[in-house]
Amino acid sequence: SRYVAVRHHVEGFPSEDDFEVKKVKVRWTPESGEVLVRNLCLSMDPYQLNRMKRRSASHHAVDGIVPGERIESYGAGEVVASACDEYKEGDVVAGVLGWEDYTLFRPSPAVLMSKLAAAPSGDDLPLSHHLSALGTSGMTAYAGLYEVCRPERGEKVFVSAAAGSVGSLVGQFAKLAGCYVVGCAGTNAKVDLVKNKLGFDDAFNYKEEPDMRAALKRYFPDGIDIYFDNVGGETLEAALATMNTYGRVALCGVISEYTDAGGRPAAPDLLEVIYKRITIRGFFAWDFLARFGEFGGVVGDWIRRGKVQVVEDVSDGLESVPSAFTALFRGENIGKKIVKLA
Ligand code: NDP
Repeated sequence: SRYVAVRHHVEGFPSEDDFEVKKVKVRWTPESGEVLVRNLCLSMDPYQLNRMKRRSASHHAVDGIVPGERIESYGAGEVVASACDEYKEGDVVAGVLGWEDYTLFRPSPAVLMSKLAAAPSGDDLPLSHHLSALGTSGMTAYAGLYEVCRPERGEKVFVSAAAGSVGSLVGQFAKLAGCYVVGCAGTNAKVDLVKNKLGFDDAFNYKEEPDMRAALKRYFPDGIDIYFDNVGGETLEAALATMNTYGRVALCGVISEYTDAGGRPAAPDLLEVIYKRITIRGFFAWDFLARFGEFGGVVGDWIRRGKVQVVEDVSDGLESVPSAFTALFRGENIGKKIVKLA
C-alpha cells in the first residue's frame, strides 16, 4: 500500500516537490476493534497547509503534520475487513481516513466516521458528494451561513472564493434564503459558472479589479449585510469598509494568509467594526456536528430536486494528490477538489 507524506515542513506556497509517495505494509487482518478501509476518494482541503508548517503546536487548534508520516484527511471508502461489530465488509463509509490507499481505524465517538446508506433505498447520490456538498464543505457552508450569519430575505450577501467548494454552496444556500448574492473568484470561467449556472445575482474576477473597495462599492451600492469570508486579507478589509451597520461576517478561512511565509496577518480596521457594530465570528464546521443528520437530509433533498448544483473537480490516483492539493493555492480548482483512487 502507499501513502502521501510531506518531505519536510512547508512554508509559503506548497509545491509538488514538497511531497512524496511512500510504501507501507498493510496489516490485512485487523486486531480486535479495528476496521480496515480501502479508500475510494479523498478530500483536498486548504487548511491542511497550516498543519504542514513548522510552528508551535499551540498556535492553532489543529494538530501538526509530521514530515514522512501519514496524513489524516476526510475521505470515503469501503470496508474490506473488520474486527468490530459495528462495521462489516462491504460497508461504505465517509469520515476521517488518510492520504493513503488503505486506512486502519478504531471506531470511537472521537473518530468522525459515518456509514452511508446503500443504494437504491438511501444513497442514490454519487459517493463523491459525501466529500463535497454532503460532507464537510457542505456542512461548513450550511452552518456558516445559516447559523453564523442568520440571513434574512432581501439581505445582501458577498462570498469570496465563490467558485470553490464552500463558496459555491454558500452562494446557492443564500439564494435559497432569498438573499441578493454577489461572489468574487479568480478567473473569468469561475465568474461565468457562479453567475450563469449557480444562480448568483452577480460575480466578478477580483484579479481584474485594481481596487477591491471600489469594486465592492460598485456591486453593493446599498452596502453588504453579510460577508462569508473564505480568503481574508485585502478582501476582508474591503468588505468591512462596505458593510452596513449590524453586518455579520463569517470568518470561514483566510486562504490568502496560508501561503504567507512568516508574514504578519492583515489587521482589519477595527474602528470600522465598532462604528458599524459588525459581528465577526470565526467558526469550525465541526462545532455543528450535532446537526450533521439534519444538514444531510436538507441538502440531499435540495440536490435531488435540482435546487443545488454540486461542482466537483476530480483528479485520478493517489499519485495525483500533490498536484491536486497544490492546485488549491494556484486557484486551479473549480468546486470541490477530490482525488479518486483507482
Ligand atoms: P476552495 O475550493 O475554495 O479552493 C480554494 C480557492 O481559494 C482557490 O480555488 C482560489 O480560488 C482561492 N484562493 C487561493 N489562494 C488565494 C489567495 N491568495 N487569495 C484569494 N483567494 C485564493 O477551498 P474550500 O472551499 O475547501 O475552502 C475555502 C475556505 O474555507 C478556505 O479558506 C478553507 O480553509 C476554509 N474552510 C473552513 C472550514 C471551517 O470549518 N471553518 C472548513 C472547510 C474550509 P480563486 O480562483 O477564486 O482565487
